[in-house]
Amino acid sequence: MILVTGGAGFIGSHIVDALIERGNEVRIIDNLSSGNPSFVNEDAEFVEGDLRRLDDALNAVKGVEEVWHIAANPDVRLSYQRPDEIYENNVLATWNLLEAMRKEGVSRIVFTSTSTVYGEAKVIPTPEEYPTMPISVYGASKVAGEAMISSYCHTYDMKSWIFRFANVIGRRSRHGVIYDFILKLRKNPEELEILGNGEQNKSYIYIDDCIGAMLHAVDRSDDVVNIFNIGSEDQVKVRRIAEIVSEEMGLNPRFRFTGGDRGWKGDVPVMLLSIEKLKSLGWRPRYSSEEAVRRAVRDLLDEGIV
Ligand code: NAD
Repeated sequence: MILVTGGAGFIGSHIVDALIERGNEVRIIDNLSSGNPSFVNEDAEFVEGDLRRLDDALNAVKGVEEVWHIAANPDVRLSYQRPDEIYENNVLATWNLLEAMRKEGVSRIVFTSTSTVYGEAKVIPTPEEYPTMPISVYGASKVAGEAMISSYCHTYDMKSWIFRFANVIGRRSRHGVIYDFILKLRKNPEELEILGNGEQNKSYIYIDDCIGAMLHAVDRSDDVVNIFNIGSEDQVKVRRIAEIVSEEMGLNPRFRFTGGDRGWKGDVPVMLLSIEKLKSLGWRPRYSSEEAVRRAVRDLLDEGIV
């Protein structure tokens, strides 16, 4: 049995589908804070629970061989306004889960970290060896998670796979720039507010590529702590994303920029991850950043989000 935390969310629900497809038995723990019951695979066992409570974590890990720890508050922007939320759902929750695993003797953990652990990296594309010095509370919470996982692995004979994602996009995504733009244009098709100056240049990866990359890496690496960047090999600017969203919605809005070189405090304006390590294991992303964006816009429009 594999436990997927956050299995009712965007990335977690796709992981659950892929693990079930591979013949695994899957249990989910999710508090449905941003997850959606309709994303939950009907062949998975669903436990509504909150990892901020150690007892819930202990119940969830019973009888499990491996944990995919996906649950978190993923909102980088919110981390500026509500650092307490980020601490509780990302740091405390991860610590509770590790304690539960230690007590129940569960020894394998997969963790979804982020490009924001590197802060404003001076080396682009940024490799895994680059120092972690985040500029957002969210990024810091993920460095904390990685550090706790590494310490538990070395101290209590566990193994871990830590994935640092670029922006992951696609069906069931309910936060981030594409989702924001679609909602704003539904409200006002004439004008689109773009946070920053639109020049922010980042890498985006389509959800199917992201899931494939994780499974590929877990199957082929076996160190105590295995760290991989996951992203596409190029970037796309926020202004271009606005153009693609507008085109796909058949609109021609005025763009209104809020100004400055970043969207919000803690935003990293330029991001591209080196994916050489994962490529050396034979993995390649199928889509470029721009292709991923177009697919994701179509997905969300097909899903009929309002
Ligand atoms: P999401 O909000 O769709 O999924 C998070 C899930 O965790 C939700 O279902 C939510 O209800 C659940 N959850 C949150 N706090 C919980 C708690 N205390 N107890 C139990 N369940 C809880 O977000 P997502 O985009 O699917 O992100 C998944 C993971 O990937 C997160 O760890 C996020 O930090 C990481 N990540 C995402 C991206 C991205 O671009 N989407 C990039 C880098 C890293």
